[in-house]
Amino acid sequence: METSIRFFGACGTVTGSRFLVEHADDNILIDCGLFQGPREIRQLNRDPFPIPPADINHVAITHAHIDHSGYLPRLVRQGFDGKIHATCATSDLLQILLPDAAMIQEEDAAYYNRKKLSRHKKALPLYNSLDVKRALAHIQEHKPEEPFKLGENFQIVYHTIGHILGASMIYLKVGRGEDQKDILFSGDIGRYGVPILKDPVPPPQADCLVIESTYGDRLHTREPSPREQLAEVVNRIYENKGVLLIPSFAVGRTQNILYHLRVLEEEGTIPELPVFVDSPMAISVTNLYYNHPEHFDVELVEYISEDGEFLTPKNFHMTRSPAESRKLNHRDGPIIIISASGMLTGGRIRHHLYHHIQDPSTELLFVGYQAHGTRGRNLIENPDTIHIFKQEVKVRARITQINGFSAHADYEEMLKWASGMPKRPKRIFIVHGEEDVRPIWAKKLQKQFPDSEILIPEIEDSFAID
Ligand SMILES: [Zn+2]
Repeated sequence: METSIRFFGACGTVTGSRFLVEHADDNILIDCGLFQGPREIRQLNRDPFPIPPADINHVAITHAHIDHSGYLPRLVRQGFDGKIHATCATSDLLQILLPDAAMIQEEDAAYYNRKKLSRHKKALPLYNSLDVKRALAHIQEHKPEEPFKLGENFQIVYHTIGHILGASMIYLKVGRGEDQKDILFSGDIGRYGVPILKDPVPPPQADCLVIESTYGDRLHTREPSPREQLAEVVNRIYENKGVLLIPSFAVGRTQNILYHLRVLEEEGTIPELPVFVDSPMAISVTNLYYNHPEHFDVELVEYISEDGEFLTPKNFHMTRSPAESRKLNHRDGPIIIISASGMLTGGRIRHHLYHHIQDPSTELLFVGYQAHGTRGRNLIENPDTIHIFKQEVKVRARITQINGFSAHADYEEMLKWASGMPKRPKRIFIVHGEEDVRPIWAKKLQKQFPDSEILIPEIEDSFAID
C-alpha cells in the first residue's frame, strides 16, 4: 500500500510547520503550526487548509512553539475531531501558550477594527479563547521514549531533541510487515551541552528524514561562552549602579538566563543583585519547569540535589500584577529586570524601556534573535532613538547583544546529530528554513550523506515514500 508525505507549510519559511503522512485511507498531520512574521506570510493562515480538517484522523506535535502548534485551535474550529498527541511537558506548555496566542489574535482583530485597517468589513480573529479550550480537550499526553500505536497504520515514539522543554523528534512507523516505512521528523533540533535540558539523543534508523534548516548556513559563536559574556554585563551594571533590562522569550530563554545567573552567583563571578522576572507568562512557564524533571540533563540533576530552586538567583522576585511592575520604574540600580516580549514588539518591557532608556547607566541586553521589522532589530540598526508609545525617545543606554544563547542547533550541531543515524536515510527532506538557506544546507547534507537523495520541497508538494 502506498505511503505519501505532503508539505503544507515551513517550506521557504521558518514558520507554519505542517506535514501530512497518508497511508491506505488513513492519515496523520505532523505539527500544526501558525505562519508568523510579515503580513503576506501571516495571510497564509487565512487560506483554506489544503484538505478539510474533518478528514484528518490524527495530529502529533513535536513541541509547543506556536509555529508548530498555533494552528491547532483553527483546525479544531474547522472540524478536526481526532486526538492531538504531544509529550506531557508540551501539553503543559500548550495550556499556557495557546490561550496567549488567542489573546493576541483577538487584540489584533480589535486593533484592525479600531483603526479600520482591514480590507474586510470586520476583522475576525483566527480563533478565540473558546476555540483554544476546545482544542486543548483533544490533547493526549505521552512520555518520551515510549512507543504508542494510532490505529492499525501508525506507531509513534517521541525521542528527546533538546530545544525547549518537552521538545521531541517524532519517529513514525507507517504500515506493517514488508510495507512498513519509517519517517523521522526532527522538529526543531536543540543544542549540545546547554544547561537544563538533555542533549538531543541520536536519531533512530529511518528510510526518510524530514529535517529543519533554521541555521543550515550558520555557526553560533562559541568563545567567549555566553555565560562569560553575561557575567561581564552584570558586573558592569553593578559598577555603574544601573538597570539591566533583558527582553526575553518566556519559554526557554528566560529560564536559561535565570539558571546562568544562579550559577554565576554560586561561583562568586557576579554579585547577588536583585533579579525581577516581570512577565506573567514567563513566571508560569518557569514554575512549570519544576514539574518536568524527565527532561533535565545530568548536570542539572546533580545541581538540584543541593538546592531545589535551581531557577532562582539568590535575590529573586516575580512581579505578577501591573501595579508591582510599575513599582519597578522607581527602583534604583543595580538591578536586573527580565521581561517580555523578546523582540520589544509588545509586553511590559516597553514600559521599562520608556523609563530607563534615556539613562546612560542603563544597559539593554538582547539575548535572542531580532527579526527584521521588529522594534528590537530597529534599535540595533539605529541605536540613537526608539519609537515607543507614539514618541521618539533619545537612547542613552548602552545596547549589548549576546548571540550564543540560541535554542536551535547550528549546521555543525545538526550534522553531528544527523550523523548519529545508524545507516544513511534514503531520502532527506529539508524544511523549516528561509529560501536562501535551504540550498546551502542541502549541499552540506549531500556531502555528509552522498548516497541519500536530498530534496527541498515547496508548499503543497507531495511525494510517494517507497
Ligand atoms: Zn521551536
